[in-house]
Amino acid sequence: MNAPGIAGRDLQRLYGREEIEAAVAGLARAIAGDYSGRPLVLLGVLKAALYFTADLARALSVVPDGPRALSVDYAWASSYGRGTESNASPRVTFDPAARFEGRDVLIADTIVDTGWTLATIRSDLYRRGAATVRQCVLFDKPSGRRTEVPVDYAGLPVPAAFVVGYGLDYQEEYRTMSCLASLKDPERKPTVPSS
Ligand code: 5GP
Ligand code: MG
Repeated sequence: MNAPGIAGRDLQRLYGREEIEAAVAGLARAIAGDYSGRPLVLLGVLKAALYFTADLARALSVVPDGPRALSVDYAWASSYGRGTESNASPRVTFDPAARFEGRDVLIADTIVDTGWTLATIRSDLYRRGAATVRQCVLFDKPSGRRTEVPVDYAGLPVPAAFVVGYGLDYQEEYRTMSCLASLKDPERKPTVPSS
C-alpha cells in the first residue's frame, strides 16, 4: 500500500501507525521487565528519535512494575548531512548538564543501519562513567551493519532501503509522517501530488 498523499511510485509504505504503536508497546514491556524497580536514563538520539523516545517513555510509564524512576535525555547525532550515506564518525553532542556517572542508560534510536551511531554514543557514555549502556531501536536494518554493536531491543525489521517517516527524514522532509515508508530513489526529488 502506498503512503497517503504522496506519489505512489516514490514511497512504499512498510509499517502503518498501528503496527508502530504495537511495536513500541512490545519494546516497553521487554524493557520494563529488565529494569523493573531500577532507575533508568532513556537517551533519545535527535533528530530522528524525537517521536520514538517520547512514545517509548509514555509506553514505559504505563507498564506495571517498570523502571522506578525514568529520566529522559537527548543526544544530538548527525551523520548523513544532506545525503543518504552513514558516516563512520558521526558528530555527537550531549546536553552539557547531563550526568551519566553510575547510571543505567538506554539509548533509543529510531533505526540502526551501519551501527556506527549507536557504537559511538555507547562508547561516549561509558567514557562519561555510565554504569551500564544498552541499545534500543524501533527499526532494524540488519543488512546494513558495518560494526558490531549489541542491539538489545529491536522492534521491526526493515529491508536494505532508505526509509522515511516516524521521525526519519530525507533532507528534512517526511519526518512527520506517522507511517514508515521506503523512498525508492532518494536522489530523485519525490513528486507530491498538488491536490
Ligand atoms: P547508522 O548507520 O549509524 O546505524 O545510522 C545513522 C543514523 O542515520 C541513524 O541514527 C538514523 O537517524 C539514520 N538512518 C539510518 N538509516 C536510515 C534510513 O533508512 N532513513 C533515514 N531517514 N535515516 C536513517
Ligand atoms: Mg536525517
